[in-house]
Amino acid sequence: KSGFISIIGRPNVGKSTFLNRVIGQKIAIMSDKPQTTRNKVQGVLTTEQSQMIFIDTPGIHKPKHKLGDFMMKIAQNTLKEVDIILFMVNVEEGLGKGDQFIIEKLKGVKTPVFLILNKIDQIHPDDLLPIIKRYNELYPFAATVPISALEGNNVEHLLELIQENL
Ligand code: GDP
Ligand code: MG
Repeated sequence: KSGFISIIGRPNVGKSTFLNRVIGQKIAIMSDKPQTTRNKVQGVLTTEQSQMIFIDTPGIHKPKHKLGDFMMKIAQNTLKEVDIILFMVNVEEGLGKGDQFIIEKLKGVKTPVFLILNKIDQIHPDDLLPIIKRYNELYPFAATVPISALEGNNVEHLLELIQENL
């Protein structure tokens, strides 16, 4: 199995940290799946069962000017073409305007979206459930996965879940 995955989220939620952890130095074999030129491959994770191709999706946050609107359209089209979207948020900060803006943009997209609650190393486990509830009231996420991209907690589980859904 092979598929495209896009990681979206506000700046500083931990997208690069996650990618660096899962891809590391393993950026290697390219898929033979057709690819549109505007989508930049950030890295490919090859396991015995599957190949996960991570795609860059710039521009999926609040635009500051007209070019921003244009970038937003491109970003939304990219999201329609991938197999899974990982929407990463910072549990330490919780649901704010920036996350709500992105959730609004996801509403026209049919691709399954996994809610990734990152930085769980920064909060008490008891605080997790109310946060999960608030996000899931706003959007029908296909899965909700708490992780720590920095420390690696639950990252293997997330990768397994992605593989199962490709
Ligand atoms: P990006 O802008 O979404 O790509 O975010 P980065 O990956 O650059 O991370 C922003 C900051 O958050 C960096 O200082 C990371 O070390 C930190 N960070 C990322 N993931 C975690 C995490 O799971 N726990 C903690 N405590 N910090 C994290
Ligand atoms: Mg980054």
